[in-house]
Amino acid sequence: MKVLAILYKGGAAATSEPRLLGTVENQLGIREWLESQGHEYIVSDSKEGPDSDFQKHIVDAEVLITTPFHPGYLTADLFEKAKKLKLCVTAGVGSDHIDLNSAVKKGVQVLEVSGSNVVSVAEHVVMSILLLVRNFVPAHEMIERGDWQVSEVARNAYDLENKVVGTIGAGRIGYRVLQRLLPFDCKELLYYDYAPLPEAAAKAVNARRVEDLKEFVSQCDIVTVNCPLHEGTRGLVNAELLKHFKKGAWLVNTARGAICDKDAVAAALASGQLNGYSGDVWNVQPAPKDHVWRTAKNPLGGGNGMVPHYSGTTLDAQARYANGTKKILENYFEDKAQEPGNIIVGLGKYESKAYGQR
Ligand code: NAD
Repeated sequence: MKVLAILYKGGAAATSEPRLLGTVENQLGIREWLESQGHEYIVSDSKEGPDSDFQKHIVDAEVLITTPFHPGYLTADLFEKAKKLKLCVTAGVGSDHIDLNSAVKKGVQVLEVSGSNVVSVAEHVVMSILLLVRNFVPAHEMIERGDWQVSEVARNAYDLENKVVGTIGAGRIGYRVLQRLLPFDCKELLYYDYAPLPEAAAKAVNARRVEDLKEFVSQCDIVTVNCPLHEGTRGLVNAELLKHFKKGAWLVNTARGAICDKDAVAAALASGQLNGYSGDVWNVQPAPKDHVWRTAKNPLGGGNGMVPHYSGTTLDAQARYANGTKKILENYFEDKAQEPGNIIVGLGKYESKAYGQR
């Protein structure tokens, strides 16, 4: 059978570092294994436009492997062309780049390696919160420039202690963020999610659920976004919602770029309505060179903690999602049941409750 993988190009780094498994060069470490079973394995980073390898090979591939870090966008139109497609595997977490409603309609299963990088992201979120609140990036840049003016950076540096932090989405990542924030003695930990945490889990992190989103953001000093991108979350953090944030709040988004309105966030940062914006996800990826989030700043010239999409692709995470991808393929080839938690779309229906309320 034909297995098509769209991965990112790793270049020299991937040649000298074989643990960069999620790259075109290292191919998730499954080429030999797949070929020994007689399967054809096509791996490419070429994903845009009708002449891309993605569009060329999707017509007769049975299995598609993609990664959120270099998303092959499987649109409704492309689903029409993918006549033989039976299984989409996301090497990582987050399958919004696959048109999930089309997958349901066409009977194509969509699985991800749930949990594979949730600690990696949760750690990045905590780091991003700290670097914004403590004004770390401008302080480091000052040092590289050869300058030394403590007051210039201290004037916008605070402690995380005694701040209110809230997560939009309290699933695997959101909950792990709350767990990791506990020792910082925040004033309060809040969450907004249509799925309430089990009572014991909420108690363990001392988190209070706020059911109205505007009320939720108006109580937070720091908002972190940890829900999937779907019809109900696209553009969720927009100009209107940003008005309800506390003035000078910090916003961290490692979930998906399209959850936050690009221009509204940049404008809120420029006006000081937001004191900082940080994260690693962009709409679209790779982000264009002139994407406003690359250079957006608060009125004091700081408040930008943006990086390329890598929080969930540490070397530790790559080992986990490469293994998980192999396990999903093994189950598929041998007609064995899949881990229930990995199934986003099963045969003809959503299995996950995280991609919107239906
Ligand atoms: P999860 O399924 O365990 O949890 C998602 C939670 O979001 C669920 O509790 C769900 O009820 C909630 N949710 C869904 N829609 C919501 C809405 N409208 N409002 C509030 N809450 C809502 O998923 P997870 O493992 O925690 O991952 C969450 C997302 O993080 C992924 O879908 C992906 O987009 C992103 N992610 C990013 C990276 C990265 O490298 N930056 C890596 C992994 C995951």
